[in-house]
Amino acid sequence: MNPATYKVCMLGDFGVGKTSLVARYVRSTFSDKYLTTVGVKVDSKEIARPGHDPLKLVLWDIAGRSTLDAPSTTYLRGAAALLLVADGTRETSLSSALNLLMQSRDTLPDAIAVLAVNKLDLIERWEVAATTLAELRRSLPVFETSALSGAGVEEAFSELARRLAG
Ligand code: GDP
Ligand code: MG
Repeated sequence: MNPATYKVCMLGDFGVGKTSLVARYVRSTFSDKYLTTVGVKVDSKEIARPGHDPLKLVLWDIAGRSTLDAPSTTYLRGAAALLLVADGTRETSLSSALNLLMQSRDTLPDAIAVLAVNKLDLIERWEVAATTLAELRRSLPVFETSALSGAGVEEAFSELARRLAG
């Protein structure tokens, strides 16, 4: 039997770590080379969940630049969930992620959204305050992640999967 499959779109500013989070989650790798994503890249991962049916996440990773525009309807079409990504060392990237969430609501009123505030390994350089994150946690799940160390990454995607499976 094929597992239930869900499309997940990565959304966030250029350079926040969208591509790196997917690489960490799907392939357990990290590269400090900055390879600009061209167009859209699609990866997938099957998740075995003890006591539940397995499910499959199909992760759509869009080129950073495009997310500065209104999210394209074509990219978002059919998405069940959004993984919003911000870079903890850049406060502006958090505003961008929240803006993208608002904009995407026109196309995807019911999509599940989880926020990853990435680059936790650079915590001493973070501009995003703990109080800001505490406030945000009232409206959506927020994870502090590092694609470099892997901290929080599995947890963020697992929470998405858990919410998708209902
Ligand atoms: P994208 O444009 O959102 O896809 O961002 P990338 O995944 O291409 O990452 C942009 C840059 O940030 C790259 O140089 C990555 O190596 C780096 N990066 C991504 N995630 C992390 C992280 O968790 N910690 C650190 N220190 N660097 C990261
Ligand atoms: Mg990218």
